Amino acid sequence: MSTHPVDINLENVSSNDSFEYSIIFLKGTVTCRENVCKTLNCKVLVLTDDETSEFTVQDGRFKCIIDLKLGRNLVNVICDSDLHVGQYSLNLERKPNICDKVLKLLYVVPKGDTGTFQSSGTCLNSAESACKRIVTGVKLLQCMTAERLNELGLGRKTFNLATENGQEICEIFHSQYIKEQFFSWTSEKIWNMTARELLASGVFAQGVKVLAFLSCTEYFRESNEIKGYVACGRGHLAMISSSGLHSWACDLKDVVSCLTSSIPIDSSLFDDSGSRGTLSGCYATTLGAALHEIGHIFDLVHTDFGVMARGFEELDLFFTVGNPQPKHYYTEMMRRCASQEISVRVRAPTKVTSVSFGFRPIGNDKDDRKWDRDGQAYFHRSAAVLLSGHPWFGKRCQLEDKGPIQISGLEVKVPNGIRLIELHTEDDRLVKYWDFTKNPTNIHRYCLSWFDVKDVIQPSLLVQDVTGKIVTHYLNFDASIPSVSQ
Ligand SMILES: [Zn+2]
Ligand SMILES: [Zn+2]
Repeated sequence: MSTHPVDINLENVSSNDSFEYSIIFLKGTVTCRENVCKTLNCKVLVLTDDETSEFTVQDGRFKCIIDLKLGRNLVNVICDSDLHVGQYSLNLERKPNICDKVLKLLYVVPKGDTGTFQSSGTCLNSAESACKRIVTGVKLLQCMTAERLNELGLGRKTFNLATENGQEICEIFHSQYIKEQFFSWTSEKIWNMTARELLASGVFAQGVKVLAFLSCTEYFRESNEIKGYVACGRGHLAMISSSGLHSWACDLKDVVSCLTSSIPIDSSLFDDSGSRGTLSGCYATTLGAALHEIGHIFDLVHTDFGVMARGFEELDLFFTVGNPQPKHYYTEMMRRCASQEISVRVRAPTKVTSVSFGFRPIGNDKDDRKWDRDGQAYFHRSAAVLLSGHPWFGKRCQLEDKGPIQISGLEVKVPNGIRLIELHTEDDRLVKYWDFTKNPTNIHRYCLSWFDVKDVIQPSLLVQDVTGKIVTHYLNFDASIPSVSQ
């Protein structure tokens, strides 16, 4: 039988692109050059120097997750089915990350515990396995963050992970508290006690933020209770539970099968799956929740859609082809981020308005609305602008510091030039933002209108200057001194 030649195209990556992190995401299309085949359902092989991996092509679309080694990498995408044959080659470069600020990964184990996490069946649940799952998961978040910022034209900026001998690591932290103490505490208290402990032990060195997982989180089926549950991110510490770790991939090669698994969550385990009930739903929801909490420690507040709303649980739709959409229940999100787990608040997200300066039209445009980008696990334009200029997101060229940001009344004075202004509510939701990134010249002074703030209870401002520096400030309409957040 004769074969048909195919064209393989990549949508998000071009040859000679460079990356400062190891896990790379490729998405593209395979089309048959013969007119007889409409859409293709087959496989592509991706060959790097070290690995060969296979990915599904569904209706002509494919997505691949691969690992790059430092330096030049020749990547071949090959279609070699019974009927369709084609190949696409590209050179990708991985550079060392030179950002001196890192996100450190910790696995917090209570005193006297072995550090196993709750799981079922034959799932490996040792502390060592937990650390492997966490490193693989957070490297995926690092990659997705870069791709999401790049989609908005902000470059492949992302956070840097702590390494040992060039390998990203998750360290075990032995707590002085026993499991029963964690079980008796609320999410807020677990975060507080752990933050103090980490501070006292010197973990928060200069330029270090921490993502910590609590090993002992346990679901009790009889009483339908979960103990040792934490989901909180602020300051330099983001902390979440280990209740979903059983669904996380240990290694990169297992990521796609874990993110597409339709196996139901065992009834002995906590169903944290965005109402999907599957292991893939659990992986997407709990890994996405980690990104949401990381977002908070990088100064992000809640937005009306995206990762900083419920969108984080659609993370699987970004990495895979053909996964079903989750159902949305807003209440669970509020529970996740409320200071007390019992204070469930049902409230629709605040509609965010935007003002952009420069060549873009003023008002809502495509960047600010929901649009189909393979699920909603993406950052709101305002959050993406903030992150892409954030001191933790890569070294910026050394700009001369012309002085601190000053806010008095409704007036913002920024000697270095304004990058972004965000208006927040008292419970840290984004109401409105002013994006100055496309302005051809730096603006040093901006005055908000009374109409912007008059309906906001206890409004506060976040101002980022062009050097990346961030200041947050409660508006009291009297001249006063701003508080520096970092
Ligand atoms: Zn064909
Ligand atoms: Zn939150």
